[in-house]
Amino acid sequence: MRKLIRTAVGFVCYYLGLTRFLLFITELVTGDATLVAFVYHRVTDRSNGDVGYLIYDVGIDYRSFDVQVAAIKRHFRIAGLSEYIDCVSGRKQPDRRTALLTFDDADFEFIKYALPVLAKHHCESVVFAPTDFIGTDKRFWHLRVTNLTRNIDSDGWARLQGLAGQFKEQIAQVIRQSSVADEDRRGETCRALAHALDQMDAEEVDSIVTKLEQIVAAKYTLGVSCMSWVQLAQIAEQGVAIESHTVTHRKLAWLDEQTIRSELFESKRLLEQKLGNTVTAICYPAGSFNDTVVAAAREAGYQAGFTTMPGLGAFALPVDERFRLRRVSMYGDSKYEADFHLAKMMLKRIFFGKAWNRD
Ligand SMILES: [Zn+2]
Repeated sequence: MRKLIRTAVGFVCYYLGLTRFLLFITELVTGDATLVAFVYHRVTDRSNGDVGYLIYDVGIDYRSFDVQVAAIKRHFRIAGLSEYIDCVSGRKQPDRRTALLTFDDADFEFIKYALPVLAKHHCESVVFAPTDFIGTDKRFWHLRVTNLTRNIDSDGWARLQGLAGQFKEQIAQVIRQSSVADEDRRGETCRALAHALDQMDAEEVDSIVTKLEQIVAAKYTLGVSCMSWVQLAQIAEQGVAIESHTVTHRKLAWLDEQTIRSELFESKRLLEQKLGNTVTAICYPAGSFNDTVVAAAREAGYQAGFTTMPGLGAFALPVDERFRLRRVSMYGDSKYEADFHLAKMMLKRIFFGKAWNRD
C-alpha cells in the first residue's frame, strides 16, 4: 500500500516536475547549487533469490539501481571523488547541482551488476574497500551471522539453545527466545542476533560468532565476499576510485588511538601500494568516528571522511567538517518512486537544513 502511495505521489512529482521545482526553490533561497553524496552497498540480481536477512546483505536489484541512477542523473551531474572533494573544500563552486555515488564494502558483485549500469550512464563512482577482506577468506561478521541462521536446521538450533548459558546474557536471551522453524523466523533470529552483537566491541563479536559457528559446525556457504585485489585493479582501470574503508572494518570510535591510527595509515598505504593510486578519502565503518578519528585521518593524509549520517553536502566546509561528510540512501524500483524519494530529500533539506536524523 505504501509502495502504491509512493508511486502515485512519484508519478505526480515526475510529471509536474515537483522534484525539479523543489531543487530550484532551495537553490534560489540559499544561493547554492545542491551537492549530495549517495551511499550504496551491494548491487545484485535479486531474481536469483535473496541471500540474506539484513538490508545491506540483501542489497539492491541492479534493475532498481539502473532506475535510481537514471533518476539522479535527470537532476544532477554525477561527479567523481576528486571533484566532490574540490567542492566541499571550496576549491570549486560548480554552477550545476552535483552528486557523488559511493559504494561501501567492495562487494564482489559490483563488477557484474553495478559497473555495467554506471558505464551505461557514464558515471564515475567510489568504492570503499576494507583491506583485510580483500583477497582473503575473511568475511564480515554480519554475513557470518546470516550464513549461520540460514543454514542451521531445527535440531542444530535446539542443540544451540541447550548451550545458550555459555553466552553472555544478551546473546543467550536471543538464542532461547528465537527459532529457525521457518524462513520468517530465521530472518527475525538473524536480525535479533545482529542487533545484540552490534552493541558489542569487535573482539567480543568475533569470539561469539566463532563460537556459534563451532557449535553448529557452520561452513560459510553464503557466497558473498569482497572483491579481490585483481578485481579492484580492474575497476580502478575503468575509472572507479578505490578508497579506504579501514583495515579491519571495526567501529573506529571504539578503538584506542594507536589502533585508530594503524587502521587509517595502514589501509591507505596498502591500497596505494597495491593499486598505485593516491587514496584521498576514508569511509568510517558503521559510520563510527570521533574527534580522535578525525585528527588521525587528517594526519594520515586523507582529504575527506564519509560518515553514515544522513544529509546533503555543502561547499567550502572548514577542514574538520570535511571529515564528517553526510550521505543519503536512495530508494525506488521505478522512476516514479525514485523521483518521489528525491523530492522527499529536498523537502527534508527545506525543513531541516542540510542535516537530518533519519533517511
Ligand atoms: Zn562497511
